[in-house]
Amino acid sequence: MKANSERVKGFDLRISCDAARQIRQHARASSKAEVCGVLIGSEEGSVTSVQASIPGANAVQGGSHVTFTQDTWEHIYRIKDSDYPEARIVGWYHSHPGFGVFLSDHDAFIHKNFFSAPRQVAWVYDPHSDEEGCFGWMGTKLERLPRIVLVDAKGGEGAGETGKPEPLLLGSDDSDADAKIELGSSPSEARAMLSAGITVLSYLCIMVLGFFLCWYFYPRYVLVPVDPRTGQILLNAPPELYNEGSNGMDGGNPNNPNKPGNPALPLANPTPAPHGLKGKP
Ligand SMILES: [Zn+2]
Repeated sequence: MKANSERVKGFDLRISCDAARQIRQHARASSKAEVCGVLIGSEEGSVTSVQASIPGANAVQGGSHVTFTQDTWEHIYRIKDSDYPEARIVGWYHSHPGFGVFLSDHDAFIHKNFFSAPRQVAWVYDPHSDEEGCFGWMGTKLERLPRIVLVDAKGGEGAGETGKPEPLLLGSDDSDADAKIELGSSPSEARAMLSAGITVLSYLCIMVLGFFLCWYFYPRYVLVPVDPRTGQILLNAPPELYNEGSNGMDGGNPNNPNKPGNPALPLANPTPAPHGLKGKP
């Protein structure tokens, strides 16, 4: 254990914020398949520094692991020789989309075969949980490093020296409506609420329109008193006979000359009547 802790003390990994960001962006571009690449930097004494990364194009992605093919290496060395001629390949990275940070047996196989130098590391990032970790050689064993140092290239920049103002959240129009939305909720929440409101309103409009269309076009029954012998419309029938469903048609009115069972005033054939006929004598 003493030897191990000495090795941990003596193994420092420094990674630039830019390199870490490049790795995250590469991994987030592929939310299901793994991506991989190499880490570019330098090894000085007990410190491994990662300055940049090169995405591994044409890497074979098989299920939950990646493989560095001949094409991948050719692509990586082409970029390294042109962009980072003085730097070294100090390790590799790959993503574990949705299944956490660890080194599988296959990952360990890759590391032992391609990145076996004592200070070369394996960076693993899960774009779903944003968890990240780095593995390196502790003697003959591969272990997760307990300490990672993020190096900001803009470190030392004085506060207020950039002269940049704080950006306004919703453009430069400082109307009262915008101010209220910002106070109550974030702009994205306000947009989501506005979108939901518009959706509900549009559904309501469609329902109301459908209701009126049905009301206008659907055939309605109109009761017209006719003479059963001649089939002629009775022009002088009592006005209550024109009222749909009124007592005038069901014999409830004792003064009604058309008693129940008396077929003197049968209903007219309930065919669709043109709109507006109702009430005509
Ligand atoms: Zn893996």
